[in-house]
Amino acid sequence: IKEAIMSGKIDEQEDPIEEKKRKIEEEKLSIQEQRKSLPIFAHRQKILDLLSSNQVIIIVGETGSGKTTQLTQYLHESGYTKNGKKVGCTQPRRVAAMSVAKRVADEMGVTLGKEVGYAIRFEDCTSDKTVVKYMTDGMMLREFLREPDLGSYSCIMIDEAHERTLHTDILFGLVKDLARYRSDLKLIISSATMDAFKFSKYFDDAPIYKIPGRRFPVDIYNTKAPEADYLDAAIVSVLQIHLTQPPGDILVFLTGQAEIEAATEILTQRTHGLGTKIGELIICPIYSALPSNMQVKIFEKTPPGARKVVLATNIAETSLTINGIVYVIDTGFCKQNYYNPRTGMESLIVAPISKASSLQRAGRAGRVAPGKCFRLYTKWSFENELDDETVPEIQRTNLASVVLMLKSLGIDDLVGFDFLDPPPSETLMRSIEQLYALAALNEDGELTKLGRRMAEFPLDPMMSKMIISSEKYKTTSEILTIASMLSVNNSIFYRPKDKEVHADNARKNFFNETGDHLSLLNVYNQWRDSNYSIQWCYENYIQYRSMKRAKDVRDQIENLCERVEIPLVSNPTDYEGILKTITSGFFFNTSNITRSGDYSTLKKKQTVFIHPTSALFNRVPKWVIFFEVVQTTKEYMRQISEIQPQWLIEIAPHFYQLKEISSSVHKMPKQGKGKVNSSEVLKKEEFLI
Ligand code: ADP
Ligand code: MG
Repeated sequence: IKEAIMSGKIDEQEDPIEEKKRKIEEEKLSIQEQRKSLPIFAHRQKILDLLSSNQVIIIVGETGSGKTTQLTQYLHESGYTKNGKKVGCTQPRRVAAMSVAKRVADEMGVTLGKEVGYAIRFEDCTSDKTVVKYMTDGMMLREFLREPDLGSYSCIMIDEAHERTLHTDILFGLVKDLARYRSDLKLIISSATMDAFKFSKYFDDAPIYKIPGRRFPVDIYNTKAPEADYLDAAIVSVLQIHLTQPPGDILVFLTGQAEIEAATEILTQRTHGLGTKIGELIICPIYSALPSNMQVKIFEKTPPGARKVVLATNIAETSLTINGIVYVIDTGFCKQNYYNPRTGMESLIVAPISKASSLQRAGRAGRVAPGKCFRLYTKWSFENELDDETVPEIQRTNLASVVLMLKSLGIDDLVGFDFLDPPPSETLMRSIEQLYALAALNEDGELTKLGRRMAEFPLDPMMSKMIISSEKYKTTSEILTIASMLSVNNSIFYRPKDKEVHADNARKNFFNETGDHLSLLNVYNQWRDSNYSIQWCYENYIQYRSMKRAKDVRDQIENLCERVEIPLVSNPTDYEGILKTITSGFFFNTSNITRSGDYSTLKKKQTVFIHPTSALFNRVPKWVIFFEVVQTTKEYMRQISEIQPQWLIEIAPHFYQLKEISSSVHKMPKQGKGKVNSSEVLKKEEFLI
């Protein structure tokens, strides 16, 4: 690719003058004219007619055809929001829910949060007036808890159905069932991929409406040899396109926030010295935790002479349409959750995308003009190594939280639940066992009082259990802080490229000898004592945005605690109490040191390692509890604290037996042997997940 770009071998189909003209034309269009120019507009009446004669319809249309932003408005305009009813639209991603809601509010000329609003976890931007409500699929699931018949909705649109997220899949089953006894409820299932037959069949042969796409050809270029470092390759490609190719914005698919931040930094540095002859390169990151005021930047028109490069996660694959993209750089990877029911371990890994994804990504280059897609992997790899489709999330994730939710909705027969694709029965079994061990279910698999309280929290059951247990240990205030800090996990510490040593030292100043949980508590409490100061964050290499988010999350969980009547007591110096509370929720995630000096998980004997950023790296505690495992160069435990083995028997007697614990007590490794090499250099990839 690099060679092709440099030697100008890539044919230039784009006429820059034509393109500029078109852009100026576009800018002139008023917002209403823009609405009318979308492919879906010509189909407005036909879709509405189809919906009035069918309870469920499937809509298929290319990304950018107007499904998400227009259909809800068509429903609103044609009377679906009369009599105090509302229209709901689900999105798998929070950023998409916020961004489309903002767009629709603008198009309707109303304030976001009034007639048009959104709800995402820990943020409800709606009011009594809201008639068009966008929300994450997870929040829609929670609507069932509050209002089992969804009586306030006249129509629900399950958008991005092709993504097959866990929550969307569960929603399918719930709305299908609900539709049977709410004949007035309308359902729209919308998808960006053409194979909607499966959805139609599932919804009793619901009609499929296809919006014909408008698409320009996209030329695809593969690398000749595999790229050793796709991040670096992506950056080089961006610069080369910018220097040699005609106008048109660039979209780069990366895997996560840390990677996107790294790329933003490097690109900013490298374009700095390019001189004034070269047009400006506007760098726009987009990922789920990006604050909303920075999200709007990606939609802003690129000024003439400049070029925009959007550095995005999978979010830009189908959820968000960014106008003006002509070049796509596809690294071929995305971040995925993998759960292994046999080991009980869930890990977030950077995995190759599917062929379907890679076609979608390429498609993003051809929306406004003929485009080019540069794949940073070989043609051979595309043909032979990529799966055809991404495995639905329900088949590769831990199901404990949805099982808890279904149980609290009164759905007891999980095996008989009408899944579009059923989860592996082993995973289902493990989830039930896990909920039993947490005492959320009793021996008969029925929801306990504790389980009911746990379901009130939009959190993983282990986290909810930890929060509820804080009542017993009188550590609620501290535990709320730790839970919130864990939920913005891994974006607390700022580690700029040229100040790594300073940043690492600053981080070490917060270390608590018991491990990372109390270190996080330290960070938060010191920040609180600084009166939540930005300056304090700056001086301590802490990301202010993440802290602010942690504070918001904390406020939300605090409200939920009030609802389930957990008093907010504080006990900041009771380390043992705090660690025992954490153990009450996370006792599955324990490991102890082995003779070889590595760690092994207690039940399943998986080898794991202490993450190099941990406060416990270089110390060799015998027993640890961890928040999660991430897989980079090794399987790393992250957010780790030292515990005492007898706590496990005290706290989870039905899960751990004394003999199990004592047989796991190994002799300490010989001096030097097991000690983790303190000079081990922190590898780049260890920070990039
Ligand atoms: P689909 O759901 O079919 O992929 P959308 O309804 O999301 O299509 O997009 C329709 C149009 O609205 C696109 O041209 C897109 O660029 C524009 N759009 C969507 N969200 C925004 C936003 N936040 N700001 C500006 N334009 C937007
Ligand atoms: Mg959409």
